[in-house]
Amino acid sequence: MTDLISALRDICGEKHVLSGDDERAGFDTDVFGDKIGKSLAVVRPASTAEVAQILELADATNTPVVPQGGNTGLAGGATPTTDERQIVLSLARMNAIDDVNVETRTVTVEAGVILQNLHDAVAKHDLIFPLVFGARGSCMIGGNISTNAGGSNVLRYGNTRALVLGLEVVLPGGRIMNLMNALYKNNTGYALKDLIIGAEGTLGVVTRAVLQLHPAPTARATALVSVSSLSAALRLLRRLQDTSGGAVEAFEYMPENHITGYQSLNRDRAFPLETPGKVNILTELGATSKLLASPGEDGRPLIEGLLEEALSDGFEASEVLDAAIAQNDSQREAFWHIRESAYEVATAQGPAIDFDVSVPLDQVECFLDRARETLAPIVPGMRSTIVSHLGDGNIHYGVLPQDNLGGIDPALKTRVMEAIEDLVTDLNGSFSAEHGIGSSKRPSMARQKDPVALAAMHKIKAALDPKGIMNPGKVLP
Ligand SMILES: Cc1cc2nc3c(=O)[nH]c(=O)nc-3n(C[C@H](O)[C@H](O)[C@H](O)COP(=O)(O)OP(=O)(O)OC[C@H]3O[C@@H](n4cnc5c(N)ncnc54)[C@H](O)[C@@H]3O)c2cc1C
Repeated sequence: MTDLISALRDICGEKHVLSGDDERAGFDTDVFGDKIGKSLAVVRPASTAEVAQILELADATNTPVVPQGGNTGLAGGATPTTDERQIVLSLARMNAIDDVNVETRTVTVEAGVILQNLHDAVAKHDLIFPLVFGARGSCMIGGNISTNAGGSNVLRYGNTRALVLGLEVVLPGGRIMNLMNALYKNNTGYALKDLIIGAEGTLGVVTRAVLQLHPAPTARATALVSVSSLSAALRLLRRLQDTSGGAVEAFEYMPENHITGYQSLNRDRAFPLETPGKVNILTELGATSKLLASPGEDGRPLIEGLLEEALSDGFEASEVLDAAIAQNDSQREAFWHIRESAYEVATAQGPAIDFDVSVPLDQVECFLDRARETLAPIVPGMRSTIVSHLGDGNIHYGVLPQDNLGGIDPALKTRVMEAIEDLVTDLNGSFSAEHGIGSSKRPSMARQKDPVALAAMHKIKAALDPKGIMNPGKVLP
């Protein structure tokens, strides 16, 4: 083992191989602090060439490798297991952002770039990389790609997969696969780029990427709205899409108990509506055309007028009950703070059985109703935490048993997981919408994934990683 550590030090330099317990602790633990592994060392390469040498060494020594970005993943994919031979390969030092190409609206980045830093770099060119969610201050592009991350803007811009044009990947054994191009059309054989995206580090290490950028909206219209039901919310979404020509960037659902939970944690912040409704929606429209950003008769951007128009149609139909439109950036930030505090609101209530599911848009209400009915006999007196990227059918659903503060009984957890996942399958949904499989959802893979698809995945894994040393114990059951 000391030989391996000194070989890693020869590659990356003495101070970039961390082997002390304290040095490794943060890398060996997941974001919640409830998955704790044990690695031999954390290695922090500075270049693709160093990553390639590390994977060559790992291959020669049968050393399992756990790639890690910002370590914000919610499925345990970046946490080593308890096999003490594993090394964590942290991409944090590979954080270069090449020049932004404003002609092609693309940028080339290394895998360790923090998402927020990319947002800031491209904003100088009036461009956006439209992947947005609460962990953007610490998650990294390589992690976003490897989890095919979603977030609040999928409705308009798609998942990470839709934003990646080119990739550089170091395969097990150390060969560098160059798929780096900025092409929109490239039908040259199997879609290897798409295979790596979402593979959660089980097929290789992403080292660089060419990303697609979009014009930054020059005006935004943001509203917090109380509506009469989830089906009324969907009608509002359709109205907004129709009147704005598809400019809806976000459409997020928060039930009443999310708002009251938020209020109890943020007593100094006023809630924008008179009272929280049962169904609260945070929606945002972005104007990327000059016309929609130009001022109307009242001096405000036309896009805001379109938002008001859709809301007043909703009022007339008695489907919109109350609404507030952000009047400036600080109000917009305050509205988003309510949504982006989901993690704090949920964790304040103690341990939960968490789900990240998706169902067809018109089945969200049905899912929530049936989940309540299904779980009533299994979890008497249960409470739930819910937030949803409603615009794309993704529901973050947490089940809180009555006595959850004392911890959750594993047998109960399994029963609840099976019941909810069966329900999701019945509704033609997915048991993992955007957080991936990692280690947490491997049992669900075994139960729910089509067996033929699973067998194909195992064959792909065996072909690319015959020794099974890339992120073992993740994704595949
Ligand atoms: C508060 C909060 C809010 C969140 N909101 C969302 C959300 O709305 N939508 C969403 O999709 N996710 C969300 N997440 C989950 C998480 O932020 C994303 O999954 C993110 O993309 C992970 O990036 P990371 O750099 O932290 O990856 P890590 O956690 O470090 O790794 C995640 C997986 O990718 C692999 N990996 C990392 N880097 C590489 C690489 N270079 N090459 C190969 N494999 C690699 C790891 O092995 C692991 O399997 C949220 C998390 C938090 C804490």
